[in-house]
Amino acid sequence: MSFAHRTKHLRAEGAYAVLARAQALEAQGRDVVHLEIGQPDFETFAHVALAGIRAITDGKTRYNPPSGIPALRQALAEQAGRQRGTTFEPEQVVVAPGTKPLILLPMLALLEPGDEVLYPDPGFPTYQAAIGLASGQPVPVPLVEARDYDLDTEALEAAITGYTRLILLNSPGNPTGGVHPAATLTRVAELARRHDLWVLSDEIYGRLVYEGQAPSIAALPGMAERTIIADGFSKTYAMTGWRLGFGLMPRALAARMDLLLTHSVGCTATFTQFAGLEAVLGPQDRVAAVVAEFRQRRDLIVEGLNAIPGIHCPVPRGAFYVFPNVRSFGQTCAELADYLLEEAGVAVLPGTAFGANGEGYLRLSYANSMENITRALERMAGALTALDR
Ligand code: PMP
Repeated sequence: MSFAHRTKHLRAEGAYAVLARAQALEAQGRDVVHLEIGQPDFETFAHVALAGIRAITDGKTRYNPPSGIPALRQALAEQAGRQRGTTFEPEQVVVAPGTKPLILLPMLALLEPGDEVLYPDPGFPTYQAAIGLASGQPVPVPLVEARDYDLDTEALEAAITGYTRLILLNSPGNPTGGVHPAATLTRVAELARRHDLWVLSDEIYGRLVYEGQAPSIAALPGMAERTIIADGFSKTYAMTGWRLGFGLMPRALAARMDLLLTHSVGCTATFTQFAGLEAVLGPQDRVAAVVAEFRQRRDLIVEGLNAIPGIHCPVPRGAFYVFPNVRSFGQTCAELADYLLEEAGVAVLPGTAFGANGEGYLRLSYANSMENITRALERMAGALTALDR
């Protein structure tokens, strides 16, 4: 069967491939610790889940406006502005089924065929997929391990051409957990203004930060008119399966997004939005508790990995991933990830699942219990110490 050229670059996400192999081993009776999955391991908060159930029994089960119910757009404008030290109007908020549509649809709205998009490598695989679907040219920009996976702004500047249209940022970042400091965002903003570029800032991990805050480029002077923030409920509120995300952008682009939503998904599930409304307006103490729990797990996994000879693991400041350097083992990261799954029963992702610059690294998700992280570290220490270095 032949498929359209614009879909030829699409690949499965690495996490699904490793999960399938891990599950095949489990079916044979093997015990596997899952550190490959990028989703919170706890349930949606009860008050949020109940608001969703109540919305269904109250009949909130019909179509609603493509960009979201007015109450949620209003609440998100206020909450997102407070979080980032800036202001948004409800008309600038676009609700969608998940954060992923807030990556693809703005590119469909903004890119002409061949327009170049600068994106972080290693980075979330959907970026490259979405750029290609929108007929753009993906141009990778490296993250620098020695600077805690900050963006290489010199490489970014050198990569800008007359065809560059958009810069993609992700802070805190998947797969590294890196947070871009204010100085980096100031530099990116200067470049965006000078070259008249859009910035698409994926801030889905914006509230999972362990030291200070993750600043948003949208709050910098002159950036409101050229920035799209992609955010969502999946990580902050453990709502991955509810499918609820939102974007913040200039009004004119929001109006164009409304049309794209109208003719693609129609609208986002109505009861899901009522659950989201409760998540935003209700008590936030569970979010703080989750951040505190993730910080403990981060400290445990970073210390444990750095205690294994040959591994160097920077301390991530956000999200729930570590991205240790494993070059000293003299194998490709894919071989090492295979070895850890087969020999140690620990499922991790090779860094190359996130781009060519991920070679030499593994990604481990610490969205797992302290007990499981401890078991994984013991198994990894045993298996890796057995290797010749
Ligand atoms: N952006 C990043 C950086 C992510 O890691 C993820 C999920 N793994 C998403 C976007 C997609 O989020 P959602 O499930 O809300 O579509």
